[in-house]
Formats: sequence, C-alpha cells, structure tokens
Amino acid sequence: MIPYGRQDIQEEDILAVVDTLHSDFLTQGPKTSHFESAVKRYTGAQYAVACNSATSGLHIACLALGLGSGDILWTSPNSFVSSANCARFCGAEVDFIDIDESTGNLCLTRLSEQLERAKARGKLPKIIVAVHFAGQPCDLKGLSALRDRYGFKIIEDAAHAIGADFEGEPVGACNYSDMCVFSFHPVKVITAAEGGMVTCNSPELEKRMRRLVSHGVTRDPDEYLCQDEGPWSYQQTVLGFNYRMSDVHASLGLSQLRRLDQYVAKRNVLAERYDNALSLLPLTPLRQSENNINAFHLYVVVLDKKLDRLAVYNAMRAEGIGVQVHYIPIYKQPYYQRLGFSATYCEHTERYYKGCLSLPLYPAMDAKDQDKVIDILEKVVNNSRLHSCTGE
Ligand SMILES: *Cc1c(COP(=O)(O)O)cnc(C)c1O
Repeated sequence: MIPYGRQDIQEEDILAVVDTLHSDFLTQGPKTSHFESAVKRYTGAQYAVACNSATSGLHIACLALGLGSGDILWTSPNSFVSSANCARFCGAEVDFIDIDESTGNLCLTRLSEQLERAKARGKLPKIIVAVHFAGQPCDLKGLSALRDRYGFKIIEDAAHAIGADFEGEPVGACNYSDMCVFSFHPVKVITAAEGGMVTCNSPELEKRMRRLVSHGVTRDPDEYLCQDEGPWSYQQTVLGFNYRMSDVHASLGLSQLRRLDQYVAKRNVLAERYDNALSLLPLTPLRQSENNINAFHLYVVVLDKKLDRLAVYNAMRAEGIGVQVHYIPIYKQPYYQRLGFSATYCEHTERYYKGCLSLPLYPAMDAKDQDKVIDILEKVVNNSRLHSCTGE
C-alpha cells in the first residue's frame, strides 16, 4: 500500500535518540530546551514551550489566555477534533466558522458576518483557533484586522504547517497571532514520535504555559505565593498537568528539524507534479496563494460532483493506493451532535467534504510511486465517469 503520508526516519535521527538514551537525562534535560531554541530560531518567535502533543499545546494555550466556562471559542470544522476539543477541556463553548471550499481554510467573509451577528447578540468569541489546513497558511493579516476590531485572541493551529511561510515570514513567528501550535505526530511534516510546541512573543503567556505543562509547579522564588520552605522548595500555584516533552522525543524532533526545509521543498515539487499531471481530470486541487509557502502536509483534491467519492476511494484502496479523507467535519462527530450541532451545520464545509480526497504525499515518495498513483487515479476516475454516464 502506498500510504497518504509516512514519516522519514534516517540514521542520524536514530543516532540522536540513542545518544540521549546513553545520557543522564531521559526527560527534562537539555535536549528539550535545545529543541525549543531551534524552533525559536526557525520561526523567529521569542518564546517556545515544548509539550507532549499539539492537543496539550492547544489546551495550555487556551488556559494561558484565560479561556473558561462562559467563554466561546470558534474554529474551522475542517480540522482534527483537537482544534475544537481544547475549548471543551476548559469548560468553554465551541462554534464553527464555515470554510472557503477552494482552500479548505476558514472563510474570512463568512467570519466577518458571523462576528457582526455575534456582536449584536453579545456573544463574541474569546479565542479563534485558525487552522492552516493541509499546510497552507490562513489569511493571518485579515484575521488580525478582525481581531483588532472585535477583540478576540488568535491561536494558530499549525499542526500541518511547520515550515510554511506567510507573506515571507515563517508560520510560528506570531506577528499576527497570540500563539501558534505545532504537532510532531508521525504523520505530520516532521516528527518527535509524539510531541507539540507552542510559540508566542509574550513573556507572560510563556510563563503561564511553562507552569501548566508541569503540574502548575514553579521553582522560581519570584513566583512563590506563600512562604519559601527552603532550598528544596517548589510551589504549586495553579492546577497544571504532566504535558512535558521528554528529552528522548526532543532529540528526534531536533534531528528532524534540520531536514525541515528539504522536506517542504520536496513536498512542493511533488505537489506541482500532481497539479500538472491531474490538470485534465474532473477534479480540482486546493487553490494556493501566490504570497505564501505551503508546507504541503497534505495534497488534497476535490472531485467533481459527478464523481462518486466513495467509489473512487474504494477503487483506489483496492489498487493499493492509501487515499484518505480530511476531514469529517468536526460537528458531525457524535460528541458534537450531542451538544446540539446539526449534522450539516456548515454549507460550504459540507460541499467540500462530499468531494475531498487526500492523495499520497511524503518526502521519500519517488517519481515511480507518484506516477503509479496518477495512473491509477486516471483509470479509476475515467471508469467511474463511464459508470455515472450509463447510470443517468
Ligand atoms: C494532528 C492534529 C492535531 C493534534 O496533534 P497531536 O500532536 O496528535 O495532538 C491538532 N490539530 C490538527 C489540525 C491536526 O492535524
């Protein structure tokens, strides 16, 4: 099976992990802070807090911004469930912003209208989680203009987008947002096996997040709230978690980060090759902005209405091509259905979801594998076209 995505582990990654295993620190050692420094350098952000997943990263980012019960968080329904769940972890409500079906990212026009209506009802969101779908940055400038107007905070869910670039600046620089969250799960652009990182430019947010990833405990006497017990002292000042990244994971992430630009370049070459090879088929790749660099975590096409997505999906899988669907709109999940969302809550997301298909894309993919995917897709699409013609 040619998978839709696959991690690329090289000898230098293995040596880096083995080196950490031989060291004095398996967790909470120097590798985690090296990894944080490397991500700060890469993105240009002033602060970076490592954690054990992007899901934990989204949770502590929301808590650091003070999200709690009575608050509302908005996000894109075309994402993994974590983008919305982070609000529920904090006891806040969730609402969804419909997408621009040509990019899969949240639609700023619909967002503006939704904000105006929410303002009239006194129910503005406290936080918007902006998902850079498939690795393509959202319009962060437009979003931050709306932030200035309506006073919400912006968390970038950049689980797909490390290595991407918004108008010449790396995603994660946080010039137009409050915080940015990366994932290092194996299907993502680079991996630490499991792991996440939150970048920001606010020392206060950094301090809060650092405390939350480690039980709400501080060892800094300046932050103590009651009497110092002595040199062995630590104080738990808030309720935190064990969301720390280990040095074993950090050493893998750090080693992978060295090849990030190479990976993104390769993903872009493969994406362009798909664009050219598929241009005559009844399907549309996601529209790309000229001003940005896409990290291409995913290569997504939207099949024309006359094609049956289920039939194409099954036929591709039967031929050993591991296509995928990103994403089942979050509001369709039983948990969100129980919260009262209609199963077809967002019109444009529904239209996109009916036709979307992710084709295999990973850095070790060679031209031969890609040609196989292209040939089989061509055959399958032409067959199902014949089918739907005779069926009509
Ligand atoms: C993978 C993913 C997450 C969660 O990442 P983990 O590191 O597995 O917790 C969050 N948001 C999006 C958009 C993702 O794709």
